[in-house]
Amino acid sequence: MIKTAEFIHPEDAAALRALKKIPGVTRISKTFLEYGYEKMFYGQNLGACIKLSPTQLPHIYKHLPPICDKLEIDEPEFYLSMDPRPNAWTFGETYKFICVTSGLIEMLEDDEIDAVIAHECGHIICQHSLYHSIARLVLERGYETLLPFGLSEPFLLALFYWERKSELSCDRIAATVTSPDVVTRVQTRLSGGSKKLTANININELIEQADKFEEIYNDKGIWNRAVQMYGIMYRTHPYSAVRIREIQKWGKTTEYSKAKGLLNISNNIRCKTCGKQVPNTNNYCPFCGNLK
Ligand SMILES: [Zn+2]
Ligand SMILES: [Zn+2]
Repeated sequence: MIKTAEFIHPEDAAALRALKKIPGVTRISKTFLEYGYEKMFYGQNLGACIKLSPTQLPHIYKHLPPICDKLEIDEPEFYLSMDPRPNAWTFGETYKFICVTSGLIEMLEDDEIDAVIAHECGHIICQHSLYHSIARLVLERGYETLLPFGLSEPFLLALFYWERKSELSCDRIAATVTSPDVVTRVQTRLSGGSKKLTANININELIEQADKFEEIYNDKGIWNRAVQMYGIMYRTHPYSAVRIREIQKWGKTTEYSKAKGLLNISNNIRCKTCGKQVPNTNNYCPFCGNLK
């Protein structure tokens, strides 16, 4: 079974250590759950999104079971949200769920959807959900939400900083389940638009672009760095160029090959309609009722 230590990005680990040192952080996490915000997000999903299953839009649901098997995790609940903006998120300490938007599903090829779901499963393995939920609450309801917890803006910036780094770890899980090139393609879609527009994109030029960004980011002079930092300080996700550069680099390491070797690969039969593992004894899938 793959463990966090096998794929965590060092900048994620360092940022999380720093975040946890902020006074009051453990308290806010506990209070966040006690206040019922987690249940609120869960209720939002049940109320406003479509819960996917072997018998509910199985053409989307079918992506989830094989990935959970490879990563040896329990299946989280899986939702589809109507939103033309491509997005996916995972929340919950006690009610774990993944949600993807209609815009994301429409924009991506099948293997790219796998990469996104594997990325979200990475958040579950790393137990990122609680802090991500807090960041989302602040983004949705405003910075004032933090005030009753006695936390100020620096906490928020540290939270966003860590969240950006946490994405890099989960891109690694996505690349382990699919490949660094599939993860790169997902980023091209997120930067440039649907598969129709970006189908023939030149990945090598994009990687060169990512290298150029790194050059600018690391250009000498503290002012330059400060300007670049200012550009991203309220973002929860790193730039696509950074994600492409990081995943292409990691894909060439022995860590990557080792992580790939830790996946649980079985030759079990899967239902073509819903993706569930099915017995070899009958012709119909016991989960969705379709022919295997
Ligand atoms: Zn993520
Ligand atoms: Zn089925």
